[in-house]
Amino acid sequence: MKNQETTKLYPLHLTKILKPMETLKTLIIGSGPAGYTAAIYAARADLKPVLYTGMEPGGQLTTTTEVDNFPGYPEGIDGPTMMVQLQQQAERFGTEVRIGFINKVEFATQKGKMHKAFTEQGTEIHAQTIIISTGATAKYLGLPSEQRLRGGGVSACAVCDGFFYKGQEVAIVGGGDTAAEEATYLAKICSKVTMLVRKDEMRASKVMQHRVTNTPNIDLRYNTEIDEVLGEQVVEGLRMKNNQTGALEEIPITGLFIAIGHKPNTEIFKGQLDMDSAGYLITKSKTTETNLPGVFASGDVQDKEYRQAVTAAGTGCMAALDAERYLQAI
Ligand code: NDP
Repeated sequence: MKNQETTKLYPLHLTKILKPMETLKTLIIGSGPAGYTAAIYAARADLKPVLYTGMEPGGQLTTTTEVDNFPGYPEGIDGPTMMVQLQQQAERFGTEVRIGFINKVEFATQKGKMHKAFTEQGTEIHAQTIIISTGATAKYLGLPSEQRLRGGGVSACAVCDGFFYKGQEVAIVGGGDTAAEEATYLAKICSKVTMLVRKDEMRASKVMQHRVTNTPNIDLRYNTEIDEVLGEQVVEGLRMKNNQTGALEEIPITGLFIAIGHKPNTEIFKGQLDMDSAGYLITKSKTTETNLPGVFASGDVQDKEYRQAVTAAGTGCMAALDAERYLQAI
């Protein structure tokens, strides 16, 4: 659902037939604020970048409602519109944006050598520099009942799927900014939102917490976790557990939203690039350089600390400048 919706925002000419092999100065993988900002800078530096969008064109911001904190938008802007504008800005300077997926990489280990990337359509790309901006993906709890009912009422994107539960009772899990934002969004559509926070406090910023507590149809439950999602084919209810008292309670719901954070999209780089224990790419202090020459990382894929659109864009800019300097030096 999510991918279909976001893909529609992009022109069809991007899916044109590609050569089986090509050589580039700069390949950018990922289409969030980091990838597009890297593309704007790389294109303006005449690096003729090609950007592969990945599975979720536009990245995480296409699943957010209002972006109020990106500088330059005094009235705020909705996430999908912002991403389309970033794409257009990158294209204006000559970036070639392709809807597609890089599913394998073979990085060179020596300075000046070509890196190889392989697309799902079978194109082999040789690139002097690669900028990785593959972002991070929503996490799930891992309960069998949650997994069974994914697509049957369990979702990790309130903005994509909330509409289906108009006027109904739903629940959301998580205590961060995402959960708080999505709970207030759902409260506008649904009759009641039960919000489950596993600790006795929320991690969300104070302003987001206030929005939650000031919304009358959000029933906020601290120290509460899911014991089981009820229903065979579709979600029919939730059994919650108070982790202090052990008390169980069942509530009727038709939708369950999981908003408990993200994991970095670094699977295809395992064994080649240095990562931390959670899988985030490690970059050298104050740069976007990875452990391999000519390979740079920007955005959430290398940032578990700040994870903001504006910081992702900032590191995208840095990655393009780092790539440009690298190319000048070889
Ligand atoms: P966070 O990592 O900030 O929060 C995750 C939340 O999920 C925490 O409350 C955590 O609980 C909870 N959680 C994790 N695992 C489980 C579990 N197994 N069961 C129950 N609860 C669990 O992720 P977010 O996605 O909320 O935010 C990511 C970043 O993006 C943050 O820096 C945030 O500020 C930013 N952001 C900013 C927005 C904005 O400014 N408009 C909007 C959305 C996000 P615990 O605290 O107990 O670990």
